[in-house]
Amino acid sequence: MVQNITIVTDQYGKETEEQIRAEAASQLGVEQQRISAVLLIKKSIDARRGKLKVNLRYAVYVDEQPPAVSVKPLVLKQADPSKSVIIIGSGPAGLFAALKLLESGIKPIILERGPDVTARKRDIAMISREQRVNPDSNYCFGEGGAGTYSDGKLYTRSKKRGEISSVTGVLYEHGADERILTDAHPHIGTDKLGDIVQKIRERIISCGGEVHFSTQVMGITKDIHKNVTGVITDEGIGFPAKAIIAATGHSAGEFYEMLQSAGVTIEAKPFAVGVRVEHPRTLIDSIQYHGMNPGTLGAATYTLKAQVGERGVYSFCMCPGGIVVPSATDDDQIAVNGMSPSGRNTRWSNAAFVVEVTPDDIPAEFGGPADPLCGLRYQRFLEHEAKEQGKGQKAPAQRMTDFVSHMPSRKLPETSYAPGVVASRLDLWIPGHITKRLIKAFRFFDTRMHGFLSDKAVLIAIETRTSSPVRITRDPQTLEVLGIGGLYAAGEGSGYAGGIVSSAMDGQAIASAVAARLLQ
Ligand SMILES: Cc1cc2nc3c(=O)[nH]c(=O)nc-3n(C[C@H](O)[C@H](O)[C@H](O)COP(=O)(O)OP(=O)(O)OC[C@H]3O[C@@H](n4cnc5c(N)ncnc54)[C@H](O)[C@@H]3O)c2cc1C
Repeated sequence: MVQNITIVTDQYGKETEEQIRAEAASQLGVEQQRISAVLLIKKSIDARRGKLKVNLRYAVYVDEQPPAVSVKPLVLKQADPSKSVIIIGSGPAGLFAALKLLESGIKPIILERGPDVTARKRDIAMISREQRVNPDSNYCFGEGGAGTYSDGKLYTRSKKRGEISSVTGVLYEHGADERILTDAHPHIGTDKLGDIVQKIRERIISCGGEVHFSTQVMGITKDIHKNVTGVITDEGIGFPAKAIIAATGHSAGEFYEMLQSAGVTIEAKPFAVGVRVEHPRTLIDSIQYHGMNPGTLGAATYTLKAQVGERGVYSFCMCPGGIVVPSATDDDQIAVNGMSPSGRNTRWSNAAFVVEVTPDDIPAEFGGPADPLCGLRYQRFLEHEAKEQGKGQKAPAQRMTDFVSHMPSRKLPETSYAPGVVASRLDLWIPGHITKRLIKAFRFFDTRMHGFLSDKAVLIAIETRTSSPVRITRDPQTLEVLGIGGLYAAGEGSGYAGGIVSSAMDGQAIASAVAARLLQ
């Protein structure tokens, strides 16, 4: 028999397993020896009325054993070289598409514009050291895509448990901690992702797949019936193919332009623009825990959202105990993002605060709402503006209190952003439809989290890449793109997915459609 109990404690993490079992036995009225396991299924924090309480929900196993954590191991076949598919990009969508193809014995040939994880690490260090961005090797491009130096939060809005575990199971099989299989909010941590990605690559190669680094796809070739025949790389090398999966992520602007001029149907879609907000971690912890963390709760998180006029303003990718990172993909831009190490133990906590931007919000000079690439151009313009306001990769920044009262920041607080920050009037140069809403939202959020609107908080600009401004339209039946036969778009860059898990699941779904076509 399995029964659930709730224990309320102000000493979270200090109770022994023995004490929890004794409490479970007393609540259920059974002898303690009959309890074989107590498993934590939910933790919620209640810091109202000046007291911190942690509500812990446990599943108690009486006279029976809990099921072992079950992971369906990947069963891959040796690739048949006569059946191959080109995958452009080695992010979560590309890697999980490759594994899915290998389940059917189809050979994936991955072409990745950036280098492997090891070389990429050096280029990422260079951004802060030399204030330069390598356009092929940065926080977004290179082995593992934007997923490798990401935060590794594995949250998704998808409710398809089976499909989610097909992603978390693979990550676990390649080195991630077992907890990601059971945690309600699984997090891998940026320090662990590189090894996992390399192991997945080795697995693909061991089954006969190919991975070509520093190989940028510049064009798609097609026959007179508008079916793909292959790709052309930056070195003019042709790779023949009957099917291609483009998993290039949403930072590959020039790839969208190439697809559009090749006749592929692309649509503008809503995206979001804003800033990274960084607070001292102790401040967020004391707001969320009312200054009563028994020392065992870890860095506090938050989720905030507001409706300001007709647009939503919301926190995104909250990184407790994390850092703000430079995620531009070219030297003429500044774009920021955030991540946490697995210990979530830096002195800061940050989150993106972004405002919804629809094609109708975009000024006509960027092409107008009917132009599929208007959002992409607007995004580039804002990132270029941020570069003009910053210095090298030093990002423009303003104290939160100065931002809301339209004042310059004379001195900025210390931040985690390694390239450095320069004081800038974000309230003046970020477009008004964004700043006005951010200001209203920050005031409102302060009523939800007293102390959130603080002179210790700093806004770092600009956050433009929380989602894709473009969608590559799919045929609902075949999932092919419209315009070229045999071409598929997967992951975040397709505009149908966002985040690690959903991009990986999309890569799997697209690979299944390709496999069905090749094997019919
Ligand atoms: C700093 C940071 C932190 C993040 N934190 C999280 C998080 O905690 N949780 C989460 O779910 N998501 C997070 N994300 C977002 C997540 O990383 C992306 O949603 C995800 O990686 C998208 O996967 P993808 O495979 O579709 O594309 P990407 O990961 O963007 O991969 C695309 C790949 O294609 C390659 N490519 C592009 N153009 C070409 C070309 N022409 N030829 C060859 N190769 C090409 C690129 O080099 C890249 O490697 C974070 C992102 C960043 C930057």
